[in-house]
Amino acid sequence: MDKKILISACLIGENVKYDGGNNALHVKILEAWKEQGILVPLCPEVLGGLNVPRPACEVIEGTDSVICKTGEDVSAAFAKGARESLRMAREEGVYMAILKARSPSCGKDVIYDGTFTHMPVNDSGITCKLLQESGITVFSEEELVLAEAFWRQKG
Ligand code: SF4
Repeated sequence: MDKKILISACLIGENVKYDGGNNALHVKILEAWKEQGILVPLCPEVLGGLNVPRPACEVIEGTDSVICKTGEDVSAAFAKGARESLRMAREEGVYMAILKARSPSCGKDVIYDGTFTHMPVNDSGITCKLLQESGITVFSEEELVLAEAFWRQKG
């Protein structure tokens, strides 16, 4: 089986963002990987059972708890989305992931602090953390050059 690359679905144009939009990136390497059929797009928040659209959510700093701007605790949905993402990654033979920066699910290394004031903190989103802990190498879409080099080396 070909080794696959997991990708945040919003990065390839799927309208799964909290506001119903996407974060489509129109770059050659993503088009090439898509044509090769090695991308596994998924949205952890949708896999966790959340709707599109949905309220904005943030991880409470220093915890794995997630709240919506409306005050609802959505920690269980985020945890479920992370587990489902890992299950799909394993089923598909994923060895690296490209995840949307600063998302409470997908963000790598930097997310917001849970106060909905755009205050960044050094932490990763719930799904990103689980994938990394499970041995999957994660890059953000801001690290595509590094991701491509890793893919050429390991793919
Ligand atoms: Fe995109 Fe990830 Fe947010 Fe889903 S959870 S919309 S894939 S950044």
